[in-house]
Amino acid sequence: MKERATEPQVEPAPAADERAVSGAGMVAWAQTLQRTAGNRAARRVLSRAVEMRAPGRGEASAFERRGEFVDRINRQTPGVLYGLDENNLLTHEVLDASSIQNFDTKMMQFIDDTNLAPMRLITNAGLVDGQRLLIDSFNLAYVDLDDMLACSDLSFQMNLIHFLEERLAIPDYSRKIGTNIAGFNRAHRAGIAAETEHLRSVVGDPDIQFTFEEDQGNGRVVFGFRSRPGRYRIFHIFTRRTGGVQGGDVFVLKEGERRQISIEQFLEERATAATAAQVERERLQGATEHRAGGQSVPAP
Ligand SMILES: [Zn+2]
Repeated sequence: MKERATEPQVEPAPAADERAVSGAGMVAWAQTLQRTAGNRAARRVLSRAVEMRAPGRGEASAFERRGEFVDRINRQTPGVLYGLDENNLLTHEVLDASSIQNFDTKMMQFIDDTNLAPMRLITNAGLVDGQRLLIDSFNLAYVDLDDMLACSDLSFQMNLIHFLEERLAIPDYSRKIGTNIAGFNRAHRAGIAAETEHLRSVVGDPDIQFTFEEDQGNGRVVFGFRSRPGRYRIFHIFTRRTGGVQGGDVFVLKEGERRQISIEQFLEERATAATAAQVERERLQGATEHRAGGQSVPAP
């Protein structure tokens, strides 16, 4: 687990002996207060809204494995370092601003939220109403770490973005855990919207839309997306694996084709096509233009 030195969150209050009764003393005291307030503003530690937490006593806790969760989060992107502070709240530190991706933008937005989203970490053995959990429980704030770790990277990112967006959409979420929390449908839609936005960013296609979600039974749950102009569909599919773990993978079905390919292969194909198109553009331009300082200038 990564630990990061943090500044104290609260400045010590001015000592009582500074509150002298004389006028001069009062001025000094007021100045001290002002200075303190100024320092507090300048050194303000942003609120940390995403917490890793143990479930209840006697429950199938994965809390002691929270380091595995943080490591997996860190493996998604190179630009930001994530850690846990001494209160098990997620922290972020930008290592390279130029390589920040949508995953980082969202994670930093969640972490800096003024609300609080606990993630009560359980193993795959944890049951809710006698049933194994698929990834997370909104009402109980559980996150099944085994399920999360069984997901592909993109599935892992989409799940994390989905349930954090969902939890933070509920005012005072943390105080409502364990109740039948009102507002699920709206929060769930916000989670789907954030996932869709993430897919658009990863694929580079602003026309991707969410189309459906379906529990197909036997642990198989599918979330569908589509790009009409791009003429392909995306399926985020959860399946039951060995030991009852339910992991997610993302697939693409291009219009007119019968076989789904992995999103990873699809992204590779798109990158190759984009490079080929760029080379062709430059070849065509090269016939009529010279380049100077990165700008095109007319040929003499
Ligand atoms: Zn949801």
